[in-house]
Amino acid sequence: MSAPTSVRHLIGGEWVGSSDGGTFETHDPHDQSLLGIVARGTAEDGTRAVTAARTAFDEGPWPSMTPKERARILHAVADAVDAHRDELALLETRDGGKVLSHMLHAETPRVAHNLRFFADFAAMAPNEAYPDGPLLSYVLTPPAGVVSAISPWNAPLMLASWKFAPALAFGNTVVLKPAPQTPLSAARFAELALEAGLPEGVLNVVQGYGGDEVAGPLTSDPRVDRITFTGSTATGRKVMAAAAQNLTPVSAELGGKSANVVFDDADLEIATDVAIKGVFAGSGQVCLAGTRLLVQRGILDDYLARFTEKAQALTVGDPKVDGTRMGPLIEGPHLDKVHGYVELAQAEGGKVVTGGTRLGGDLARGFYYPPTIITGLTNQARTAREEIFGPVQTVIPFDTEDEALAIANDSPYGLAGILCTQNLDRAHRLAARWQAGMVWINCFFERDLRLPFGGEGQSGVGREGGPYSREFFTNPRAVTLRMH
Ligand code: NAD
Repeated sequence: MSAPTSVRHLIGGEWVGSSDGGTFETHDPHDQSLLGIVARGTAEDGTRAVTAARTAFDEGPWPSMTPKERARILHAVADAVDAHRDELALLETRDGGKVLSHMLHAETPRVAHNLRFFADFAAMAPNEAYPDGPLLSYVLTPPAGVVSAISPWNAPLMLASWKFAPALAFGNTVVLKPAPQTPLSAARFAELALEAGLPEGVLNVVQGYGGDEVAGPLTSDPRVDRITFTGSTATGRKVMAAAAQNLTPVSAELGGKSANVVFDDADLEIATDVAIKGVFAGSGQVCLAGTRLLVQRGILDDYLARFTEKAQALTVGDPKVDGTRMGPLIEGPHLDKVHGYVELAQAEGGKVVTGGTRLGGDLARGFYYPPTIITGLTNQARTAREEIFGPVQTVIPFDTEDEALAIANDSPYGLAGILCTQNLDRAHRLAARWQAGMVWINCFFERDLRLPFGGEGQSGVGREGGPYSREFFTNPRAVTLRMH
């Protein structure tokens, strides 16, 4: 086993400890071994990072480079991510428990893809110009300024890159704060980015917690121009309240409780695979997860039998081992929360079809929870309304299309929707009436980065992706010229 890493903040191109010398530990959720000792940022450290980003924006070359010049550097950073794919993937697998094959083949390559996509988008996307007789009107998109990027632990570097890639590509400078559960990958990435040529101060990384600590100034300092936040709805509210003092625009990608609707005309093989991926990928720690499985009554027994069999066949275990499909949950308190919801479901009258108890034996030192399926609850049960963020599927039967849509839309959240049907009319009809930011038909998780990403209701405010990111991370300016 390698020695624990020591992680510091990156502020203005310097690696520094916290102003009060404080640290916290990060552990492997597989066996609780110590992975790193990390600087625990204070509010003072947050302010210093904002100052560094402000200086790099106001005095440095980054904002005034052409998008093509920035793209050249961001492509070099993406190349460095690809070249260090194995290292970054393993780092995240150990820090966050994500399955290594997924990290190698999906999430880490996606970090590089996010960088390349936004670099190219900023350099090549069309812009508006309206000639109108003697008038010529057009739009400029100067960078917004200093961006605070606050990210969660469930897809650490991928979600962070979904923020810093567009922010940087459009000419902003960034202060990134990863989640304290998974601090390692952002620090290593920042090191690689500097080596690849990203100017000092353009990307700053501070480590630690929210509220009165390092994240405080990231949301309340008036020198911050944009806040892009991904995390829970409860924290999102606090971030928006802090940002309101300075009227700082916030893009908030928050929690979810998405419905996955399976009609009796669906290809059941596809629908089963979609549901398995929809709720058990990432051990259910996925904001988009289709945690409410609505199944048309006529196929309920058959479908539930197939789904249960496939869920039971998923290998839960060490995420570094080939063939593992589900790794551990992120930490002990989170496992307790997930299990608490399963107990609540039983108290509410639900029946646990499979799963429902923490895994022991070889996995006892880790935070392992099996795929869990619960029937017998209505959509009014708390288990069906609140985000559990674990491998727990609630199954609810329905009879008609209208009833399915009504249940799907009856949620405080509105992040995503999944539906499986072979009836194209029905698919389009429902997609148009579904109250969610994203609807997947006969698939899940496919992403074209030009599309809007974000949620309705308690799932968030704003959209990011392609032109939506440009709108958020720039100050669109209308220019009108009269020719005489
Ligand atoms: P969290 O809200 O606890 O923390 C998110 C980040 O906010 C962390 O970096 C944390 O340190 C920071 N933070 C905490 N308090 C803060 C404060 N007062 N001010 C500023 N920052 C503060 O969320 P989490 O447990 O890390 O992540 C899981 C949650 O994230 C789930 O609810 C999940 O649905 C959501 N999520 C949403 C999306 C999406 O795109 N909609 C994607 C992934 C995760």
